[in-house]
Amino acid sequence: MINVTRTYLPDRSKLDKYIDEIYSSGWVTNNGQLVKKLTARLEKYLDVKNLLLVSNGTLALQIAYKVLGIDRQVITTPFSFVATTSTLVWEGLEPIFADIDPETFCMDPSKIEGSITPETTAIVPVHVFGNACDVEKIEYIAQKYGLKTIYDGAHAFGVRYKDRSLLSYGDATTLSFHATKLFHTIEGGAIIFKNKKDLERAKLMINFGIDGPDSIIELGINAKMNEFEAAMGLCILDEIDTIFKKRSEIWNYYQDSLKDHVQFQKRNFQCTNNYSYFPILFESEKRLIEAKYAMNAANINPRRYFYPSLDTLGYIQTQVIHTVSQDIASRIMCLPIYPGLLTNEVEKIVKTLICEQNYSFASYSHVVNL
Ligand SMILES: *Cc1c(COP(=O)(O)O)cnc(C)c1O
Repeated sequence: MINVTRTYLPDRSKLDKYIDEIYSSGWVTNNGQLVKKLTARLEKYLDVKNLLLVSNGTLALQIAYKVLGIDRQVITTPFSFVATTSTLVWEGLEPIFADIDPETFCMDPSKIEGSITPETTAIVPVHVFGNACDVEKIEYIAQKYGLKTIYDGAHAFGVRYKDRSLLSYGDATTLSFHATKLFHTIEGGAIIFKNKKDLERAKLMINFGIDGPDSIIELGINAKMNEFEAAMGLCILDEIDTIFKKRSEIWNYYQDSLKDHVQFQKRNFQCTNNYSYFPILFESEKRLIEAKYAMNAANINPRRYFYPSLDTLGYIQTQVIHTVSQDIASRIMCLPIYPGLLTNEVEKIVKTLICEQNYSFASYSHVVNL
């Protein structure tokens, strides 16, 4: 079965060396040497300051909300992985959805202001599939209304925007280093803060608010990354150029072979591509389901991603229908893309998809001709 993604496993002998280090020091968690090393290397690689490693991308969001003092209502996007919304609800915040742009799939900035109320305290946009949001417009609105901005940058590892790291925008940007992501630490994540004082407070918060052997000065939680996870990250970071290269080859092949058959995400031309996902848009949900069946029959497992639109979740009370998000969510899927995907597999995916599209088209023309 060809799945939508496969966890990247780095060179084993290098990982073993790090594990030997962990065994000889006996230090397995609580801001150990490898976590410190990975923090420094990621700050350099990503060209950011104030990066804090945490145990996953979900807690990264929750800690960021807490540190920045977010309360009551938050404007966010209905088109994302569920964690963008569920973390808000989990923290007792009320997500208010601003619909997305039908082409970029990111939050439509023109929909934000109409959703702001006196209760609004923050904006939580997502760089969907690594595509940069309209960060200038969002920043302008945030400043005008005195709102904090926290970007869910789970898909935006390594992306640059106008010669600067995309991850350096907003009051904070969060990352996920889950095993399915482009760069991973098995489970893990990070928060990149604009201000050093927020970083310092977050450091306390991820370790129960403990300040010293006999001192607890904050309400905290446990959100620490451990040394084994950091070891995985260090090994993968050494191989990141190969990862990007392999992914870009697949991405470009899909782009060239499928351009006459399906619709693509419109990418922000001022940001770099990290090739993290390959989303395709069908003309209808029916066509998507037909294509998915055909692919499953050929042992290919693409994923309906993101589906469903988050404004339709059972625990969300919204009177507003976000037509663009619901429409896109019903017609989109992501094709397999990962470094170990073989050329003949990529060709098979494309062929299966094109045959299915031609078949649907033929049967449709037949009906029309009648
Ligand atoms: C993966 C992901 C998360 C959650 O990260 P975890 O590390 O799995 O907790 C949050 N937001 C988005 C957009 C994601 O893709």
